[in-house]
Amino acid sequence: MKPLLLIDVDGPLNPYAAKPRRRPEGYTTHRMRPTGWTEPESRKPLRVWLNHGHGAELLALAGAYELVWATTWKDEANDWIGPHLGLPRLPFIDWPRMHGRAPRGTFWKTQYVLEYAGDRPFAWVDDDITALDREYVDQRHPARALLMRIDERVGLGRADFDALAAWAAWTT
Ligand SMILES: [Mg+2]
Repeated sequence: MKPLLLIDVDGPLNPYAAKPRRRPEGYTTHRMRPTGWTEPESRKPLRVWLNHGHGAELLALAGAYELVWATTWKDEANDWIGPHLGLPRLPFIDWPRMHGRAPRGTFWKTQYVLEYAGDRPFAWVDDDITALDREYVDQRHPARALLMRIDERVGLGRADFDALAAWAAWTT
């Protein structure tokens, strides 16, 4: 079975923390109103920067991985993000609870990522991964796992895609 590639949106695909209000090179600006976007003080839609090259990079990895959304956008990533990147609808992790409690100082997603992955190897790209998540996964996951922390000011880049391709080749 192919390893999973678990994909976060905000950070890896949308480098939301890039220089304030300045669109990073290679990205286009989109305005979106996903269901979860309920900024009460502003009725402005959410600004999302996307890099169309990311779609091709992810599709190239789809030969080696099963692509899965691992984002608070949940299934809405298929409506708002995937089409801009030329991605087909992907499975997604349906978090039982978001931003809730998490064991041992881990990121709240980590516990559910392990449940979803079961005994399959997985790579995970997210801007909120820390050493505590790596340790937690190392101790509990029965297969290989690659936790890649992506800088939310930069997003996914060439070196990240190369590392993902190399890891899948080595794992399978
Ligand atoms: Mg994120």
